[in-house]
Amino acid sequence: MVKNRVSWISKKERFGMNVIIVDRNKHESFLADHRQDPYTRQLIGVGDKIVICANCKTVYLESSWKIKGHCSINPKICESVNTLSSIPNQKAITHFSSKPTIKIVEKKTINKTAIALFVTIIIILLAIILFFSPKYFSYRKSADELIVVKQDVVSYENNIKELTQSNNKLATENNILKTNITTLEVKNKAFEEEVKNLKTINKGILSKHLMSIYSIEFKSTNYSSSTTYISYGNTLYSSLIYYLCPKISYNGAFEGNIKLSIKIIQPNGVLVTGNSSPSGYTYEQNMYCKKGYNTAELGGWGNSSGGTYSSGNYRIEFWYSNVCIGEKNFYIY
Ligand SMILES: [Zn+2]
Repeated sequence: MVKNRVSWISKKERFGMNVIIVDRNKHESFLADHRQDPYTRQLIGVGDKIVICANCKTVYLESSWKIKGHCSINPKICESVNTLSSIPNQKAITHFSSKPTIKIVEKKTINKTAIALFVTIIIILLAIILFFSPKYFSYRKSADELIVVKQDVVSYENNIKELTQSNNKLATENNILKTNITTLEVKNKAFEEEVKNLKTINKGILSKHLMSIYSIEFKSTNYSSSTTYISYGNTLYSSLIYYLCPKISYNGAFEGNIKLSIKIIQPNGVLVTGNSSPSGYTYEQNMYCKKGYNTAELGGWGNSSGGTYSSGNYRIEFWYSNVCIGEKNFYIY
């Protein structure tokens, strides 16, 4: 004991700690515990230099204690700098040495491992439940459907893009066409105005160089029986009309044969026509034009059985060279 004391006193002076050399005979019960160094886990045996924490009784190899210079295997519990000068007897150290300390650490590790394992098992169980639950399958199905829908959306978006592009193109073309239409409408209006002016000029020219009709009267004759049913200027009754024959009063500007185109327009606005009608007119009539104020009895339009003219407002127009040179509204009773 004294010898041992002497040996650690000198080391304490050097390192500020008690170093005990494990002896086969003296520390038999200690060796029977098969202690390990808390850092290196090296089994402590005969001849090893050890340091024992005076507070928690943890047994260190000298080299391990010197890493920190104090008890440090579990800093939360113990950071004591005091060391024991000898290995306490078995009874006194029921709670001491590296083994229990390590055990605490191991316990904690085991506890942590156990908790981790438990949590993992719970997660796996939950995953299994979730995986086999119909709801999960429905989610999976929904997810699959969602992918299809997303693909559809992308395809629709592309279609929309294409349609928008062609729509823009069409809108541009439409604008161009609208501008063209506006231009053409303006031109058309100007053209119509010009036509009107030309017609007026033409009419003036025709009346100056051909004739102008200033009065129109009608009679009704049946050519087959050579009977006149209505004389010129009398009231026109539809039942008495066979051939409706106009008599024109005109001022002739020249002398010669001309061909007049005649339009008879029905109360509903439709041109009276027959098999012999030229395009756009009811009939054509040759006449001999004389200079000055004259009258001309013209051939009529109708048939020998009568009844072709129903009652209503009629209109007759005399055309020459695409210009109307005489017109009259008349009523058939
Ligand atoms: Zn300690």
